[in-house]
Amino acid sequence: MANCIFCKMAQGEIKPDVVYEDDEVLAFRDMNPQAPTHFLVIPRQHIPTTNDLEAGDAELVGKLYLAARQVAADEGIAERGYRMVMNCNPEAGQSVYHIHLHVLGGRPMKWPPG
Ligand code: AMP
Repeated sequence: MANCIFCKMAQGEIKPDVVYEDDEVLAFRDMNPQAPTHFLVIPRQHIPTTNDLEAGDAELVGKLYLAARQVAADEGIAERGYRMVMNCNPEAGQSVYHIHLHVLGGRPMKWPPG
């Protein structure tokens, strides 16, 4: 997608602070972190929201979580705990319409989220 900022990152046009990458998945630090550790995991493929996921995307979605698990371990938050969130559409606060898994850790989390 021409004007999608996360597509530009996935294609190397914009260079985020990358913490993991492979052929299908990119993970980078959030520019406005909400916890001591806060990174985003995205598919290189443009999928606007979780509502747009199809059965054929199941493996790709699994890879997002496996990448998140790896980076959480690398960042030293795996044992303490971390939260993974994927916001969908305005009421959930989605602001970038290219699916992304937020991974937050390094401080105690409250529940329910606001
Ligand atoms: P959401 O509100 O769930 O769509 O989350 C979008 C996230 O992307 C926010 O936490 C932003 O801080 C983050 N974000 C937007 N642009 C960038 C960027 N250029 N580099 C890093 N993080 C970004």
